[in-house]
Amino acid sequence: MKKDNIPLFFATLQAANPTPETELEYATPFELLAAVLLSAQATDVGVNKATRKLFPVANTPRAILGLGVEGLEEYIKTIGLYRSKARHLIETCRMLVELHGGEVPRTRAELEALPGVGRKTANVVLNVAFGEATIAVDTHIFRVGNRTGLAPGKTPLEVELKLEKRVPFEFRLHAHHWLILHGRYICVARKPRCWECAVHTLCDYKPKTPAPRPG
Ligand code: SF4
Repeated sequence: MKKDNIPLFFATLQAANPTPETELEYATPFELLAAVLLSAQATDVGVNKATRKLFPVANTPRAILGLGVEGLEEYIKTIGLYRSKARHLIETCRMLVELHGGEVPRTRAELEALPGVGRKTANVVLNVAFGEATIAVDTHIFRVGNRTGLAPGKTPLEVELKLEKRVPFEFRLHAHHWLILHGRYICVARKPRCWECAVHTLCDYKPKTPAPRPG
């Protein structure tokens, strides 16, 4: 994608959805961190279903520690990889209580030191909970970045660094959500829905998917 086209690409996504939000349900930075930890290789819908039962009972590190691994597993066993997620979340809660007074830390280094928290999760928390202009590259952003020519790269980190360089600052805060939603609903994995894509004139992907024939 030509550099000159990038502002219009984001302005178009912005016009369709001026203040995009995560589809994970949360009310506090800790709830967000817990939901993101649970969401690896799972759908946001599935995570929301579990946290709607979990958070009214336990939505602080201390309360989740109080449930113990087995107690926590009962709430999240409908989510893939729930056993390792329960262990990571309990260990994360322990560190939050012991090292951070039960609060979610605000630096990347402190977040990435938590069990089960990698660069992507840290970026989501920094962006969504603390309003920093980070871009967490998940499978959708990786695909959209490469397909459109916006930020081609062989690894998520390469795509992230390219996005940091190429996304104009005024779009940086919400770029993460615009790209995820675009990838989730329009530029989908198997066959992108180019015929109804608002940015098709700006995107490098060829050949574009034609509209399905009626009937
Ligand atoms: S034109 Fe097609 S490939 Fe390009 S962004 Fe839109 S849906 Fe994706």
